[in-house]
Amino acid sequence: MPDPYFPGSGDPRYRVHRYELALDYRPGPNRLGGTARLSAVAATALSEFALDLADFRIGRVLVDGRPARYTHRAGKLRVRPTKALAAGAAFTVDVHYTGNPRPVRSPWGGLGWEELTDGALVASQPVGAPSWFPCNDRPADKATYQIAVTTPSPYTVVVGGRLLTRTTHSSSTTWVYEQSAPTSTYLVTVSIGPYRPVPLAEHPEVPQTGYVPERLAGAFAADFGRQPRMMTYFGEVFGPYPFGEYTVVVADEELDVPVEAQGVATFGTNHLGGGWERERLIAHELAHQWFGNSVSIGDWSHIWLNEGLAKYAEWLWSERSGGPTAAARALYAHRLLAGLPQDLRLADPGRKLMFDDRLYQRGGLVVHALRLTLGDTAFFRMLKDWAAFHRHGVVTTADFVAHAARYARTPLEGLFDAWLWRPELPPLPAG
Ligand SMILES: [Zn+2]
Repeated sequence: MPDPYFPGSGDPRYRVHRYELALDYRPGPNRLGGTARLSAVAATALSEFALDLADFRIGRVLVDGRPARYTHRAGKLRVRPTKALAAGAAFTVDVHYTGNPRPVRSPWGGLGWEELTDGALVASQPVGAPSWFPCNDRPADKATYQIAVTTPSPYTVVVGGRLLTRTTHSSSTTWVYEQSAPTSTYLVTVSIGPYRPVPLAEHPEVPQTGYVPERLAGAFAADFGRQPRMMTYFGEVFGPYPFGEYTVVVADEELDVPVEAQGVATFGTNHLGGGWERERLIAHELAHQWFGNSVSIGDWSHIWLNEGLAKYAEWLWSERSGGPTAAARALYAHRLLAGLPQDLRLADPGRKLMFDDRLYQRGGLVVHALRLTLGDTAFFRMLKDWAAFHRHGVVTTADFVAHAARYARTPLEGLFDAWLWRPELPPLPAG
């Protein structure tokens, strides 16, 4: 099924299980080139298939090592192998490409590869990945990645996953990263810049490092100093952190919002400075590693599952860190929403409202309503099991509703119907 909000993105007729990208990037001229190898399986017999890729010059396209015919128009690279692929057949596609990457235009501004004053970053949610590599751009098609980036030696390259090697030849350095956890295309990221690593306090399980402009190293260490404690607390309530490490990049620019990627979050200079409004973003991005990145949505209509649980994580952290309780945060959000138009259906908000702040607030509220209904013991068991049962998987709203019902003594249909499917704001249940 094509994505209901982005029917032009992705091709559901095959699945990719691995991407190997070998890219060269020159920050001055903003020039990106290289090779992408996709290892995939045909879900059905295919005489042709489509990849998503923005406006690059294509050098060669090979299927199983043999030149294939292709057309490249309007962000779609349509490939016709010399021999049709049988249903269930494993195949590889190699694409050689070069060009000047630029963000994909969207109602939310540019998405994907973005040139910075000195370097570049990638923030693709929801459909920006084709701005820098050919892909099957659907959140449900998760794959492992090996990404090699060659760039002038003074720059640091940050990609999610484990750094395998870093090799310097004359004035260029090649950074090779392996992301072995299944990853949605929109969560694949690269940051290139004059960054300095700032390790955060030792954490028993998860190494955490910041990559920040030199002059912001002190501010970063202060503002993100509580993140390791946050990691410990989220580990208690959501279960083990799903990836091998957690990296925070602070780009040397102001960004509208921080963005999550697999094992990485990218913040702007404007997100430093402390205070609850910034600390809640640190909690929010970290929580996405469980909700969104490990437990991923089947298509974009289910986005409340990512944002509602990340919002609720902010409130949980507020309570745990000695701030207002989650209940107080929920009451405040409820009052806020009561004064705003009530025309949003949480479980299927439509493309226009998928990043509306009301979706975040109401998403947090339905989670709190569920906590009040289940009671703390059952609620926290439900939450942890959700992250465990669907670790590195793909889910829908229906999956969540069915899951939660197993922890309830009374039917939850009424609660979910009111909170997820009707636009009017329901009252919070009595605890
Ligand atoms: Zn979010």
